[in-house]
Amino acid sequence: MKGLLFVVSAPAGCGKDTILNELFKKTDTAGYAVSATTRAPRGGEINGVHYHFLTREEFESKIAEKEVLEYTEYCGNYYGTLRRSVNDLIERGKDAILKIEVEGAMNIRRMFPEACLVFILPPSWEILEKRLRDRGTETEEKIIERSKQARTEIEFAKNYDYLIVNDKLDAAVDDLLAVLRAEKLRRSRNDELLNAFGEEDKA
Ligand code: 5GP
Repeated sequence: MKGLLFVVSAPAGCGKDTILNELFKKTDTAGYAVSATTRAPRGGEINGVHYHFLTREEFESKIAEKEVLEYTEYCGNYYGTLRRSVNDLIERGKDAILKIEVEGAMNIRRMFPEACLVFILPPSWEILEKRLRDRGTETEEKIIERSKQARTEIEFAKNYDYLIVNDKLDAAVDDLLAVLRAEKLRRSRNDELLNAFGEEDKA
């Protein structure tokens, strides 16, 4: 069976990176589809692992060569899903997890209606703003920008298939694992099971 396509979105500060890091420690049936971006690496980020860090020229030439499935400009930088990152996983039977923002998610839904979209919510606005400040990686101006952005992004959550509230990390990771497992069991993805029973009836 080919792997499935999962999109995980959340405003900055909702803990999606931590949730996904923990998820990948607990399962090897899914892999992270590494995106490309023109933003500068943050401390500890590794090229090819967290993102493929590109110049604007490099990014634009990948768009022209149709190597980018979807892309967007977010806070002044390009971010895009590389066709190769997704295909490499799916072809190996692994579920591909795309950690992308809401517009990208809507584009993926249009291109791949069978993709499963998961939105991670913070427990409250207060906790989200506190988490943004505690990260200490960004200027006050950026924090205000990201907090405004969060309000816009949460309006898109109604278009997603699953909502997970990241109140307790372990519970949020378990919830996401449950979604991955449940999606594999969907009847519509397993018609061959029923077909096999149909064949037996006829025999
Ligand atoms: P950050 O700069 O915090 O790593 O990412 C900023 C936003 O861009 C996040 O919401 C992240 O999920 C999103 N993002 C990362 N990669 C992609 C991508 O390939 N496509 C789209 N549309 N958004 C992305």
